Amino acid sequence: MDSVLFVGAHPDDVETGALGLLLNLSARAKVHYLVMSKCQDIPRNTHILDEYMEVTKRLHVSSQILDLPNRQIENHGQEMRDVLERYRDSDTIRLVACPSINDIHQDHKAVADEVVRVFRHSTVLFFEVPHSCPFFEPRFFYPLNESTAQKKLEIVGLYKSQRAQKYVQADAILGTMRMRGVQCGSEYAEAYEVWRIVGGLSV
Ligand SMILES: [Zn+2]
Repeated sequence: MDSVLFVGAHPDDVETGALGLLLNLSARAKVHYLVMSKCQDIPRNTHILDEYMEVTKRLHVSSQILDLPNRQIENHGQEMRDVLERYRDSDTIRLVACPSINDIHQDHKAVADEVVRVFRHSTVLFFEVPHSCPFFEPRFFYPLNESTAQKKLEIVGLYKSQRAQKYVQADAILGTMRMRGVQCGSEYAEAYEVWRIVGGLSV
């Protein structure tokens, strides 16, 4: 069975940008899910770890969350590389999905910098985080059916602590999936920038 790795800087990054792909791949690949920061420095995040645990339980993934300092992840490149290299060297990771290297959030960009540094022989896709990707240029569109789109909404909604954040509100998530769907002739879709494709894209 192929293995794939989804990497976020913060809890809710992968859920926002790549959950449809993750949900569909989890039916036929081993899915690893890695988050770099617990984001405990922000008062509203008192319960975010409980929410993250609930999300990962629902996703049936192999998950790991590090405790790198929120908004300063860029200063911890070696720690990120060490962890990413362990994934790379202990499994055959066919595909890695992470935030964009053009994302203007410094934590998101720092994750992408290390992913492309470590995974030079795997397919690497950058997912969309709309509130920090003003210049996102997708070249891969991944259509989602109604059921997957609804499941994505439901799971993102488990982050109750983030409900005041407009980018994870249901209408924003749905609107982005609809817009990307319109661009590829589907009801819903996710969009990805392509860093590298190795050996085809059997997703
Ligand atoms: Zn984030």
